[in-house]
Amino acid sequence: MQSLKYTAQPELDISIVLPVYNEAGNLKIFIPEIVHVLQILGRPYEIIAIDDGSTDDSVATLRALKQQTSEMGSELQQCLRIVRFRRNFGQTAAFAAGFDLARGTYVITMDADGQNDPADIPAMLQLMEEGEYDIVSGWRHERKEPFLSRRLPSMLANRMIAKSTGVVLHDYGCSLKIYHWQVAKNVNLYGELHRFIPALASGIGIRVAEVPVNDRPRRYGKSKYNLSRSVRVLLDLLTVFFLLNYLARPMQLFGLAGLLSGGLGGALGLYLTLLKLFMGADIGTRPLLWLAVLLIIIGVQFLMMGLLGEMLVRTYYEVQDKPVYAVRAEE
Ligand code: UDP
Ligand code: MG
Repeated sequence: MQSLKYTAQPELDISIVLPVYNEAGNLKIFIPEIVHVLQILGRPYEIIAIDDGSTDDSVATLRALKQQTSEMGSELQQCLRIVRFRRNFGQTAAFAAGFDLARGTYVITMDADGQNDPADIPAMLQLMEEGEYDIVSGWRHERKEPFLSRRLPSMLANRMIAKSTGVVLHDYGCSLKIYHWQVAKNVNLYGELHRFIPALASGIGIRVAEVPVNDRPRRYGKSKYNLSRSVRVLLDLLTVFFLLNYLARPMQLFGLAGLLSGGLGGALGLYLTLLKLFMGADIGTRPLLWLAVLLIIIGVQFLMMGLLGEMLVRTYYEVQDKPVYAVRAEE
């Protein structure tokens, strides 16, 4: 996220974005729960349920919620938007679709399985408005999930993300987050990147706050993720680290690696050459020779990569007319 490409005005106060993948059982309970909280809040809202290619009755359940003849039904008739993906694209893609479609000033993301508690929304919103924050992020301080398979990897990931992105949150993985419209509309999401939005967005200097929230056990269905997510999060972290620190100056990263590698290779080569010239040593069979050659080749590769990176970055900014700065407001 580098700049603000989207400048239209919001039409509502609140957009709730729910990624839904096989959550039929949970939706029946969870959506009325959200509506209840938002009715008390009394501000115009919409709920955008993104069905991420569910294979159960999730869509039927969402439709049924809208068609009830009760008061809840007529409310949902107005406020519930059902968006169906053609296939399963993943939670991050569902968030991205929600961000694109949202019409509210505040875009609130949550899990559709009921693990997040809608009762936390009013306090988060209040903080957001009073503190002029751009993102208010939930922190599941008492998580209800198993330690070894879920909380431990997530603890490690949180530490690493904090260290390498400079945006210090306790819990990046919590889905319950409120984004200001401008952030939601201007962030580009790929892979598992949704947990890195605060870090990516910090690149343009936004304000992030964290609020302890309630974490509840999942009622129906099971988690869509396992340990393999940790590996993907780790790889994404590398990407984010690069994007945050070197996007505008790739040569400084690759060039440095190239100089180090090439320099070391050159020095070894020189040393061997001197041995050969002055001592008459036989260097052809020495492993050190191979190392020197390898390091020189790698060094040249890195330098070339840096140059290519510089060219790519120029296209990235210039083709899209992206400014290399971000303005908060003009007064
Ligand atoms: N989800 C999704 N697409 C997927 C996987 C998950 O939309 O491919 C949704 C899922 O329905 C839930 C949220 O993303 O609303 C988080 O998923 P889950 O609860 O399985 O993850 P966990 O809370 O266990 O980390
Ligand atoms: Mg969940």
